[in-house]
Amino acid sequence: MSTVLYLVLPCYNEEECLRDTAAKLKEKYAALEKAGKIDGASKIMFVNDGSADGTGKIIEELYRSDSMFCGVNLSTNCGHQNALIAGLMSAVSDADAVISIDADLQQDINAIDEMLEKYEAGCDIVYGVRNDRSSDGFFKKITALGFYRFMHAMGCHTISNHADYRLMSKRAIESLSEYGEVNLFLRGLIPTMGYSSDVVYFDVKERQAGVSKYTPGKMLRFAIDGITSFSIRPIRMITLAGFIMFIFSLISVIQTIYEYFVGKTLPGFASIYCAVWFIGSLQLMAIGIIGEYIGRIYMETKKRPRYHIESRLWRQ
Ligand code: UDP
Ligand code: MG
Repeated sequence: MSTVLYLVLPCYNEEECLRDTAAKLKEKYAALEKAGKIDGASKIMFVNDGSADGTGKIIEELYRSDSMFCGVNLSTNCGHQNALIAGLMSAVSDADAVISIDADLQQDINAIDEMLEKYEAGCDIVYGVRNDRSSDGFFKKITALGFYRFMHAMGCHTISNHADYRLMSKRAIESLSEYGEVNLFLRGLIPTMGYSSDVVYFDVKERQAGVSKYTPGKMLRFAIDGITSFSIRPIRMITLAGFIMFIFSLISVIQTIYEYFVGKTLPGFASIYCAVWFIGSLQLMAIGIIGEYIGRIYMETKKRPRYHIESRLWRQ
């Protein structure tokens, strides 16, 4: 029996490349089906992440044109990760395996064959890993590299050069659904789930149309989410810094008391000025980082839904 494969594509304002993407995927699916690699019930699912342009209309058009396409409309822009989860959770009941891929098809769809082979061979998770970053702009390259290095230093072990292009089996997605946290950082979380996994290498292409939907603000939020949802190391580092400074201040207090008794104390404006500023800023930074975690705790205790599905474009 061949695999019922669902492809999940989060789409945020992707009207410029969606038709082209759909045409390429349709061709790919036809070839896979012909080769007996996927079942006829396999589908391509577009998750409209509250797009403000014609994305929703195009998805509906595609859905009407071919039973291969289906769609999920989120009620507002929930972000890439949440759109992905919405897609995975919507697909899991009907699919044997789901592959998530970006709507701009920067990731090579020909890696799907190899992913399927690894799945058939018993892998529950197959990560798509890019060969290099030559197609990225300078800013993206530097920020991405810095981000992954920093994540690693902070104790979150992601798969290097893996974005959200991956295959997951039904049971792996079902396991993922058991994680109750609101702030799901998939790239960090999935490798901790266990299950047999493997990687498939592919080349990244230029974005075929439109611009990156990851604004610098969204990238920053993504990075902070990733770090704070995976590691309490920043808090520990601050505690350690505080402890070391406490030792230093203890020594200097003893020295000052000694100098007071031997009558050597002189009003040292500069040193006090520097110390006050230094400690003040360090404290503010520490409070900020702790606040960041308390903010997460606050959000997590609310157990807010990660997304709302406004409508579905679905055939049984
Ligand atoms: N995306 C989304 N919601 C957002 C931002 C992005 O669903 O708020 C989708 C976007 O449509 C695309 C994928 O996430 O399918 C990756 O975004 P993009 O290609 O713009 O990022 P980049 O490749 O530049 O990192
Ligand atoms: Mg892209």
